Amino acid sequence: MHEMSLCENIRDIIQAQAAESGFVRVNRVWLEVGALSCVEPDALRFGFDVVMRGSVAEGAALEIATPAAKARCLACGQVAVVAHRYDPCPACGAVEMQVTQGDALKISKLEVV
Ligand SMILES: [Zn+2]
Repeated sequence: MHEMSLCENIRDIIQAQAAESGFVRVNRVWLEVGALSCVEPDALRFGFDVVMRGSVAEGAALEIATPAAKARCLACGQVAVVAHRYDPCPACGAVEMQVTQGDALKISKLEVV
């Protein structure tokens, strides 16, 4: 389950930020899981609780937002919301769409003590 390794990455980032910023406890973590990121939010929640044990984010609440993905058409330059990675351009029908957002997982905010 790759959500486990994603959670480990998140934990490492939070631990590094804690060391840098000097906070010792994280109450809440906001994550952005792009619509095209292939991440299963439920699996992420499960992995999160397990992986955060013993870290500054142990017991932290997890808020997951799933922003829509956007892609830019390489043929006509149109930027459109896409539900799937290989959706054609809604303006010209070209299939060469470059995903510009919504294909990644990132930490958007931390509530720390
Ligand atoms: Zn187009």
